[in-house]
Amino acid sequence: MKKQVDMIIVGGGVIGSSIAYHLLQDGFEGEVTIFEKDNTYAFASTPRSAGGFRQLFTTSVNIQLSRYGLQKYKTFPEDMAVDGGLANIDFKQRGYLFLANKENIESFRKQHQLQRKHGVPAELLMKEELCSIIPELHTDDLRGGLYCSEDGYLDPYSVMQGYVRKAKQLGGRYVYEEVDTIIKERGRVRGVILKNGDSYKAPVVINCAGPWAAELSEKAGMPLPIVPLKRQIIQFNIADPLKKELPLTIDPSGVYFRHEGSSLITGYSEKVRPGIEFSWQRSFFEEQLWPVLAKRIANFERAKIKRGWAGLYSHNIKDQNAIIGEHPQLNGYYMACGFSGHGMQQAPGVGKGLSELIRTGKYETLDLSPLRFERFASNELIVEGGIV
Ligand SMILES: Cc1cc2nc3c(=O)[nH]c(=O)nc-3n(C[C@H](O)[C@H](O)[C@H](O)COP(=O)(O)OP(=O)(O)OC[C@H]3O[C@@H](n4cnc5c(N)ncnc54)[C@H](O)[C@@H]3O)c2cc1C
Repeated sequence: MKKQVDMIIVGGGVIGSSIAYHLLQDGFEGEVTIFEKDNTYAFASTPRSAGGFRQLFTTSVNIQLSRYGLQKYKTFPEDMAVDGGLANIDFKQRGYLFLANKENIESFRKQHQLQRKHGVPAELLMKEELCSIIPELHTDDLRGGLYCSEDGYLDPYSVMQGYVRKAKQLGGRYVYEEVDTIIKERGRVRGVILKNGDSYKAPVVINCAGPWAAELSEKAGMPLPIVPLKRQIIQFNIADPLKKELPLTIDPSGVYFRHEGSSLITGYSEKVRPGIEFSWQRSFFEEQLWPVLAKRIANFERAKIKRGWAGLYSHNIKDQNAIIGEHPQLNGYYMACGFSGHGMQQAPGVGKGLSELIRTGKYETLDLSPLRFERFASNELIVEGGIV
């Protein structure tokens, strides 16, 4: 079967679906087809994410993306309502807190200046102030913290479904099939061939395949510096509840934790070999997370694992940031991938930005050009210091 459409999006996760929604919402009149290989999203990164939202980044483009995302997530339930049903995303603005010790306090001071310059209400907290946020916190080895009360965490699956439902309502067509190959001819993209043998022609193909983006691109002769990296999250219960709801808190060791309902989730970017792998280990909690957690908050000493899971970062090995825009060597081939650990907060801004770039040829709301593919060849990397 051969079919002609106007726009193909490969991957219907939060990024592909946000782009589909924005294109249609902003007036793109052609047929938008989204190919998604798994309608349960069992292994996609989005539902496996920690859902952290922060403006506390160290690069202007990432701060601006989050500033934009914050406004959108605050009104998401109403903006994305379908047939009167609100698109609730459980956005809890309980704050985001990086704990500082003597090694990283200086770097937080610099980050704080940049964040304030962009209008982020970031605060440099004194050690004594930390206990007003987390009364049980053990602070002996700390110097303070970098905190933003507007930030917090949300439910990633609901955000993705919000975009999916709205994109469908606006006419986006989800086809639950796997794209096998991107077709190109004389420096132009021509469409895709599916695993089932069908081919679809289109003048624009957007690669939003998450951890599978590099494999797909490589097959079309367009390698990307992205690898899949396993990241584990453990959910646990504690016997003595905390006095207050937690901000998403990052210990100086890199271990993070936050509330998830009445229990907690925690994780850490351990060193792993790249690859597609989804097993999780209790020993990861017992050996790497628990010793840090129990030292930081005494209530965490009596912790009981409830469950765990692993998901994949689409890790950009060059600068750990997204690759956004058209490929310089292949007309009509756009990329929105390589988000590493911060794609959830960037989904609204990336959707808006790519919609503008594709429809009008330029960015209008946010300048995402620093994240262009060409930065690798010209050595203009956007190195993000605040990676979790
Ligand atoms: C453990 C973990 C914690 C995280 N924590 C945070 C956080 O706190 N804050 C934050 O902002 N971000 C976080 N992230 C990152 C964030 O989840 C991702 O950046 C984001 O979900 C990426 O969305 P995506 O749509 O690009 O990818 P995905 O959600 O993986 O979607 C890609 C989709 O493409 C489909 N697909 C792939 N190949 C094909 C093909 N050939 N044909 C058809 N379909 C295809 C897949 O099935 C998948 O559904 C975390 C990620 C993980 C794994």
